[in-house]
Amino acid sequence: TESSMQDCIFCKIGRGDIPSRKIYEDDDVLAFHDINPKAPVHFLIIPKKHIASLAEAQPEDEALLGKMLTLVRKLALQEGCVNGFRTVINTGRDGGQEVAHLHIHVLGGPQPWK
Ligand code: 5GP
Ligand code: ZN
Repeated sequence: TESSMQDCIFCKIGRGDIPSRKIYEDDDVLAFHDINPKAPVHFLIIPKKHIASLAEAQPEDEALLGKMLTLVRKLALQEGCVNGFRTVINTGRDGGQEVAHLHIHVLGGPQPWK
């Protein structure tokens, strides 16, 4: 809804109203470092469009979601994940989602970090 987009922290980051350490941006998506990294490399990829979670994604979002997923490889390599990476999408309360704006976590760097 309109009000959730006004209040949404990742919409604010997407608009540039809240600063972030950006690693990639285009008209549709933004990638930025997680403020509380759980690995040597930990960044998030978000759609600029407000989609609350994977549970709210619609068939019309197919191209956008595909774009986000195919960006992972390029950005992971750019950030130095030459030997692989972990991707995580938390969805809803039982999925441990804390920010209600869809995001892909990308985690990597030399093990051990788990
Ligand atoms: P979730 O649990 O919703 O999948 O993950 C939300 C992630 O967003 C967490 O890893 C948290 O550290 C990160 N995060 C929350 N607020 C901010 C912020 O204002 N800036 C950045 N860069 N990351 C944030
Ligand atoms: Zn949002």
